[in-house]
Amino acid sequence: MNNKKAGSGVEQFLDWVRRRNKGQPEFLQAVAEVAHTVMPLLNERADYREARLLERMTEPDRIISFRVCWTDDAGRVQINRGYRVQFNNATGPYKGGLRFVGGLKLDTLKFLGFEQVLKNSLTNLPIGGAKGGADFSTKGRSDGEILRFCQSFMTELQRHIGALVDVPAGDIGVGEREIGYLYGQYRRVRNEFAGALSGKNVSYGGIPLRPEATGHGCVYFAKEMASARNQSLEDQVCVISGSGNVAQYTCEKLIELGAKVVTLSDSDGFIYDKVGLTADKLAFVKELKNKKRGRIKAYAEEYGCEFYENQKPWAIPCDNAFPCATQNELDDSDAQALIDNGCAMVVEGANMPVTDEARQRFEQAGVVHAPGKAANAGGVAVSSMEMSQNAEHARWTRDEVDQNLQEVMAHIHQTCREHGEDGDGINYIKGANIAGFIRVADAMLAQGVV
Ligand code: GLU
Repeated sequence: MNNKKAGSGVEQFLDWVRRRNKGQPEFLQAVAEVAHTVMPLLNERADYREARLLERMTEPDRIISFRVCWTDDAGRVQINRGYRVQFNNATGPYKGGLRFVGGLKLDTLKFLGFEQVLKNSLTNLPIGGAKGGADFSTKGRSDGEILRFCQSFMTELQRHIGALVDVPAGDIGVGEREIGYLYGQYRRVRNEFAGALSGKNVSYGGIPLRPEATGHGCVYFAKEMASARNQSLEDQVCVISGSGNVAQYTCEKLIELGAKVVTLSDSDGFIYDKVGLTADKLAFVKELKNKKRGRIKAYAEEYGCEFYENQKPWAIPCDNAFPCATQNELDDSDAQALIDNGCAMVVEGANMPVTDEARQRFEQAGVVHAPGKAANAGGVAVSSMEMSQNAEHARWTRDEVDQNLQEVMAHIHQTCREHGEDGDGINYIKGANIAGFIRVADAMLAQGVV
């Protein structure tokens, strides 16, 4: 993605976006990456250009911001801010997760919403893109506090969502517990049992394999990447960051396919298990993180391996890296460390975990790099299956979902290959951006100036 090659239109376009979105560096980073890759296509397509589709796609359909008041365990009134960024519904109802993170900014939700539109487009399923959340951290909060927060949040959000309108799901800080509390309040206030949220437990309309979907899908995608290089994941040393939902199930599927996972992390540091995680060790991590809500350091104590406080795992030698924690977690020097150690593939489980400088470094070094909007689309794809399941008042089996998930990931890989041809290899970032853009552009073009 050479800036000069993309043509002068990019800078003019980005100036326009910058002027309209001051102080939003993450959103601008996501838009700039896409603009550089789709501008050559726009230079060929006068119809896309004249309809100003890229410009329209960078302006959310609407942004909802609201006050969330609740009472903590000490009886004090707490005030948070909730959001829903309904980015684009040209290809289906708004769809995307909710993130509960202390200090969460609208900038982050705009970048995530913009990415979600293209990601959801890539799945080829009938979903548009949105993102939402609140500047609320569940860390250190009691169950009762989280319940009261979720109920207050949903009391407002419910008027903006619905099975055919907008279907939120989980993301960082929003797991099965939070989705349960949110759904309970939705059902109470609206008096309807509809698929207005995904990621629900199977006992009340959830679909099997949704918790696993993002991580398993990410590995299915990595498997396709490896096979495009005539390789397999077997015996490959893999470094994973994070230890939440995406990291856990990426780890699970990698182990299942015979790869050797040697790291996991959280905001305190990372564990380095030289002999590799096993299914039993992963069960310990799931219990630790999902039930006890503990720190990953406890893994090092349990299994007698190394713990690197306040460090990231990118200096550990590996064949493949799976950043599965959060945005911009892997910077320039991390990228160089991975390159120096011979890392061949970077597969994003998180959304935009690689900084712009690091991305360029990987590109120059010939490291194959799959963006989150392609590699982590399995989560939202299975969410879309959950929407179908709810709409038909049916129950899908685990095998059906797994089969569909594999097909969706293979389809996305094939699409990236078709649009990301790059000499002998595949430029996944270019392929994902162009293919994601085209479907939304065609849908918008067909529907007139709205
Ligand atoms: N939060 C996930 C994502 O980043 C899943 C969204 C969903 O299932 O709607 O794609």
